[in-house]
Amino acid sequence: MLTVNAYAAPSADAPLEPTTITRREVGPHDVLIEIAYAGICHSDIHTVNGDWGPQPYPLVPGHEIVGTVAEIGPEVTGHAVGDRVGVGCMVNSCGQCTNCRNGDEQYCAEGMVPTYGGADRDGTITQGGYSTHVVVDAGFVLSVPESLDFAAAAPLLCAGITTYSPLRRWNTGPGRKVAVVGLGGLGHLAVKIAAAMGAEVTVLSQSLKKKEDGLRLGAEHYYATSDPATFEQLAGSSDLVLNTVSAVIDVDAYLSLLTVDGALVNVGAPAEPLSLNVFSLIGGRRTYAGSMIGGIAETQEMLDFCAEHGIVPETELISADRVNEAYERVLASDVRYRFVIDAATLA
Ligand code: NAP
Ligand code: ZN
Repeated sequence: MLTVNAYAAPSADAPLEPTTITRREVGPHDVLIEIAYAGICHSDIHTVNGDWGPQPYPLVPGHEIVGTVAEIGPEVTGHAVGDRVGVGCMVNSCGQCTNCRNGDEQYCAEGMVPTYGGADRDGTITQGGYSTHVVVDAGFVLSVPESLDFAAAAPLLCAGITTYSPLRRWNTGPGRKVAVVGLGGLGHLAVKIAAAMGAEVTVLSQSLKKKEDGLRLGAEHYYATSDPATFEQLAGSSDLVLNTVSAVIDVDAYLSLLTVDGALVNVGAPAEPLSLNVFSLIGGRRTYAGSMIGGIAETQEMLDFCAEHGIVPETELISADRVNEAYERVLASDVRYRFVIDAATLA
């Protein structure tokens, strides 16, 4: 076993602090990764705070990981020592169920193994990327194209795939109108990716404070949701509304923005339930759907798409000792647009 440095939450209401954790021996199918960078996802904050239920503390968050392969098990063929690799929100699944076989490992019938805070298939509790090293089954290790800036590539492993997957599924492309709700980590990548796919993109943000950014990222339109006129002006206009908001929204108001057959897809995952008036769906044959990250093959497809289109998130690189401050700023919607921890500061 390897003892490595990490940053962990000791409990739901205490700040994260430096600690050490152990990583398992490199098994036949495993890859040991020396972590270079780890993004801070709002899900890390929801999880640590217990928004989604009780957690096994101390907990090391982090599921937007890039690093270099330091060692491989004898059965590993897809990765070699020295390769630039990434790990996202899951590190294992059963591999046998229909969903796994279909490339939807995130919907594994036995439950996918989350990168942190979950029981791995050997029973150990997983610990995430705010750390110097991680050991991961090779089937859940992605290749990070050389052309992508390494630090900026980290958030693609969660924020990138979480937005890419529903955009693809709901046929984003030329002639399609896509509205992105919330211009945070996920939202700003959704804008870049949807624009690269050829759609006409609208940002719906709480205020107009980030309008210049939104237009620079690739949106054609930008509206403040605090202004009731926005919902009148945009009624019935979007084929797809992608909700990335981390808090409860007025679902009916956003459904009213959809065309007939349009879809509101929720990737935001607030602690409290969302409710809707079913007439908002009936009166337009509309769909309200959810989507969780993406499968492994699709995640590789997303990385290759981003490399081809020169897409990386806009990031702020921080040392690990600033993680608590970063959490406060994410909660205040004061992030432009993703914090990334430099793992060298953990060494
Ligand atoms: P983030 O960077 O904090 O962005 C969320 C954005 O939502 C904010 O920038 C803000 O945008 C808007 N917002 C925040 N509070 C709001 C409020 N009270 N009312 C209206 N708008 C508000 O977070 P993120 O990392 O992008 O994650 C967003 C959500 O997606 C989180 O709930 C996260 O857990 C979830 N998530 C889900 C998946 C999945 O697989 N489904 C994967 C990753 C993350 P404006 O300032 O522009 O209004
Ligand atoms: Zn995430």
